[in-house]
Amino acid sequence: MRCLVPQLFPLLQGQKRKMADLESTVINTSVTQKDPKEALVIAVTTRAIFNLEKEHEIFLTKGKEEYVKHQQTNENNPLEPGTAFAFIQAAQFVNKKLLERDPEEKELFDVIVLSNNSPESGVRVINSAKQHGLEISKFCFVSDEDSTQYLKTHNVKLFLSADMTDVCNALQRGVSAALIFQQEIQAPSTQLHVVFDGDAVLFSDETERVFREKGLEGAVAYEKKMESVPMGEGPLKAFALHLGKMRQKFGKEDSPIRIYLVTARSGRDMGIRAIKTLREWGLAIDEAFFMDGAPKGPILSKIQPHIFFDDGLHNIQGAQDVGIPSALVPCDC
Ligand SMILES: [Mg+2]
Repeated sequence: MRCLVPQLFPLLQGQKRKMADLESTVINTSVTQKDPKEALVIAVTTRAIFNLEKEHEIFLTKGKEEYVKHQQTNENNPLEPGTAFAFIQAAQFVNKKLLERDPEEKELFDVIVLSNNSPESGVRVINSAKQHGLEISKFCFVSDEDSTQYLKTHNVKLFLSADMTDVCNALQRGVSAALIFQQEIQAPSTQLHVVFDGDAVLFSDETERVFREKGLEGAVAYEKKMESVPMGEGPLKAFALHLGKMRQKFGKEDSPIRIYLVTARSGRDMGIRAIKTLREWGLAIDEAFFMDGAPKGPILSKIQPHIFFDDGLHNIQGAQDVGIPSALVPCDC
């Protein structure tokens, strides 16, 4: 992937230069560069962070040329926020608090925007990020390639995309990833709230498989037998551990991050192993809710997370119904 230094950025602003040789480019626009080896790098696609549904429709129905023309005509018209927008904004708030605490802090969120479009249609995206005051360190335009091949080289710890193939490719590369749906959201703009489901998200799906095979009774018996054996890791574990590390820099009262577990497990029969596993991993959760199969929507609307990760479509739907930004962690890629 070729990189453009910030000085070359004006080349993209309505210039005559042919862009064919810039098919895969990274544009770096942030004022302070973060060290990707130490930062918690999050990659979001343009359709996850902005509402590009109308534009995507043009791309699908009228083709690439019309889409590029539309984006160029509207390049100074900022895009509306998308589902992952509030999450990225809250991550920025956490960075501010981390730097207030220690101006030399290196473990900061670092946000990369990935687009499958050419850089020339991407000017609108860059302008939108600027106008919304988002601190994006890199804009990567990766043409029609599989963009997830760059995630590891950029040390990405979480990838959010509106494309199922992208998400599955990322998960298969061992990167925590989730699918974002365009939705109406309400989210507070300060303290970052992140909610994780347990089985098949933080944890492996081993108990779910037992449940499918042997029913609830079988799953409860299995959990009892395995109580002191930590569960395997789920697709979001790596990201959650990084987030937890960041969380631990702060005390109980002054933390700009709160991490929640909202699981369908019952606390009485299946809570102990979950708690023991988190303890074994060193992942401190601020609050844990064992729902015993009850709908998650009501508790989520109390927590008001900036993002909620779950592997069940019914839970995602329930969260969307109460305006919670939701991300599906697919388990059948
Ligand atoms: Mg689950």
